[in-house]
Amino acid sequence: MASGVKGTIEFRMQNISTVLDRMGLERIVGYKPAKNVGTGVELRIRQVLNAQGVFESDDTAQTADEQTLIRRASKLQKQTFHKVPDGIVQPQKVATVSTSFVRDPKVRAWVLKEAKGICEGCNTNAPFEVDGQPFLEVHHVKHLAQKGSDRITNAVALCPNCHQRCHRSSDREAFTAALYSKIERLIRE
Ligand SMILES: [Zn+2]
Ligand SMILES: [Zn+2]
Repeated sequence: MASGVKGTIEFRMQNISTVLDRMGLERIVGYKPAKNVGTGVELRIRQVLNAQGVFESDDTAQTADEQTLIRRASKLQKQTFHKVPDGIVQPQKVATVSTSFVRDPKVRAWVLKEAKGICEGCNTNAPFEVDGQPFLEVHHVKHLAQKGSDRITNAVALCPNCHQRCHRSSDREAFTAALYSKIERLIRE
């Protein structure tokens, strides 16, 4: 084999080894990972590997979408790590399209004042202060994304733990139901 061809194959195998390594999988025997593999090259290698059915999921792929990141990490937490992840030294910045809801500052202020620095979920003090005011988050019991209203009858002041619990926890439905029965001003929409 001509040395040029051999060099090219070796180089490609090293690139593939690097990607396998980054995916937390065993690298190709005999080929040490290449030091620098560009994002575009890595993406193409991952696509080829996936197309070959080598890997069932793409859970190790990097992503700029927070929800995707959380979902992938949650799956990976259940797997064994063969090595400590390298991570990304300088994460790339990407522009994303986002949508937001128009909100009423009076509703937010009223709900926070009413809570008096005590979480309406667990009745404990706000964990810290911001600009001299207790830090609580305002949560819409029926989410705005589910067409919930931005009114005091649908908004509660929660500590960060209770807030995440409403959105993420395995018992989020029961926890939300408890808020409805406990906080009198809330109205189911
Ligand atoms: Zn709480
Ligand atoms: Zn919320």
